[in-house]
Amino acid sequence: MTAQEIRQAFLDFFASKGHQIVPSAPIVVKNDPALMFTNAGMNQFKGVFLGEEPIKFPRVVDTQRCLRVSGKHDDLEEVGIDTYHHTMFEMLGNWSFGDYFKKEAIAWSWELLTEIYKIEKDRLYVTVFEGDEKEGLPKDQEAIDLWLQYVNEDHIVLGNKKDNFWEMGETGPCGPCSEIHYDGRSLQQRLELPGRDLVNQDNPDVIEIWNNVFMQFNRVFGGEKGGLSEYIAVIEENKNNLGLNFDIKKWKSDNLFLYSKLIDLPAKHIDTGMGFERLVRVMQGKASNYDTDIFQPLIQFISEKSGIKYEKVSDNSGADKMEAISMRVMADHIRAISFAIIDGQLPSNNKAGYVIRRILRRAVRYSYQFLGIKEPFLNKLVLILAEQFKGVFNELWEQREFVKKVVLEEELAFLRTLEKGILRFDIIMTRGAVIPSNAELTKEINAYRDRKILHGFVAFELFDTFGFPIDLTELMAKDFDFTVDIAGYEAALQQQKNRSRAATAIDTGDWIVLKDDETVEFVGYNETETIAHVVKYRKV
Ligand code: ATP
Ligand code: MG
Ligand code: MG
Ligand code: MG
Repeated sequence: MTAQEIRQAFLDFFASKGHQIVPSAPIVVKNDPALMFTNAGMNQFKGVFLGEEPIKFPRVVDTQRCLRVSGKHDDLEEVGIDTYHHTMFEMLGNWSFGDYFKKEAIAWSWELLTEIYKIEKDRLYVTVFEGDEKEGLPKDQEAIDLWLQYVNEDHIVLGNKKDNFWEMGETGPCGPCSEIHYDGRSLQQRLELPGRDLVNQDNPDVIEIWNNVFMQFNRVFGGEKGGLSEYIAVIEENKNNLGLNFDIKKWKSDNLFLYSKLIDLPAKHIDTGMGFERLVRVMQGKASNYDTDIFQPLIQFISEKSGIKYEKVSDNSGADKMEAISMRVMADHIRAISFAIIDGQLPSNNKAGYVIRRILRRAVRYSYQFLGIKEPFLNKLVLILAEQFKGVFNELWEQREFVKKVVLEEELAFLRTLEKGILRFDIIMTRGAVIPSNAELTKEINAYRDRKILHGFVAFELFDTFGFPIDLTELMAKDFDFTVDIAGYEAALQQQKNRSRAATAIDTGDWIVLKDDETVEFVGYNETETIAHVVKYRKV
């Protein structure tokens, strides 16, 4: 089946089970201070789950364009290096709002995978929540019993709270989830080591494809140790006693259950998400998402242009050459950039716009350095992409010329300084720094270098003079086995801000952290674990 057919089969299958097909929400989120980009299919239904919006259709199905490059779900560093995490991807989802629950969700996911898609049953493993006594969360025996109708016990894997329990925020709707994983290894390998041992182990051949969330509880403040105000007070107290080793995030997760309790949701919901590109890879029998008909047209085009055969440099083992990684990065990133632009987020110098600019610059840098592409090139991929999404996300086709133009301009601007920046960086890495008229700083930079640390001043200079986002510098440093002195970089950045006092100074540090004085009611699934976030609860 082609990718198009696979997507359509998903929508048709759930439509045949009484689901309303709805369009994807934009990838850019404009009205939620807790979230910059749509990172899961359920985002657009948050209001429904919270009981704030009416249920239009009790059963819904769609394909949602998602972006996981910030906040809780930040996969950017993996993208291109591995073969199954993307920046932008489609999440296929079916929903029940207070309608069917576990029984149907499990039965239909199994029916679709094994009868419609005809995936070999032996290769599928399902995970179920094992429970968490300390937090008073029960084991999901109901799901185990349901799964036993379809799979043998040895294909059921118990999972912990991290992998098999979903919560929207500290409080609010939550529940166990059950995921489906696919073992793509050879028979011999499977006989040597059962797939169940590789589930959730970041193995490139045994991958998670589908998450079924069973929203059945509501976590509310007011537990064994009182409620919200007491919880806040203890956090405040700990904030003041912050020892160097005090981990507020851990403290929160260890103690929240004492201040809150779980109650049954009056209406239970189903929320599922299947990674479309991973499904297509499974269906097309490939070892990498990039070998499917979703990515191949892009990869082939890049390969032609650079004169490097992708197959020659990629063995999908994760030990690929930089050329292969670069091609994957480009094929992936142009999707994130294009969809962000059509959904209203242009690359810019702050917040969400800067995230997009960073992604674009990451792609340009890879293609420049490892594929020898010195002219603007990413923009040429836009037409191929738009063609692919005709009739699916038609907006891209309609706006293709505009997207192409924006990407071209961004590329031109960055390419102007990229070469000089890379040269500067290489000289410092290989020969050391010389900062004219500052012998002390020169000495310090080189002493750091001896310890395999890139001095913060250099990172700042690369940012300020050459436009290198800090994570790009980190990536380049990684190639040399260096880390970056982030504290020094931030101090230099701060100094510059103080000097110029420009209110418009580039806001690289806090593009995901909300400002303290903002009042929000919901610190949702994209929260960064900072004290500032917790304090915000008080203002509600
Ligand atoms: P993983 O453990 O592989 O990072 P996840 O548990 O973070 O995935 P979920 O939040 O459960 O993913 O999302 C539902 C589905 O979306 C996953 O089962 C997977 O198929 C897909 N998915 C998640 N992240 C990505 C990504 N970065 N690129 C492509 N598909 C993804
Ligand atoms: Mg993940
Ligand atoms: Mg996972
Ligand atoms: Mg998951």
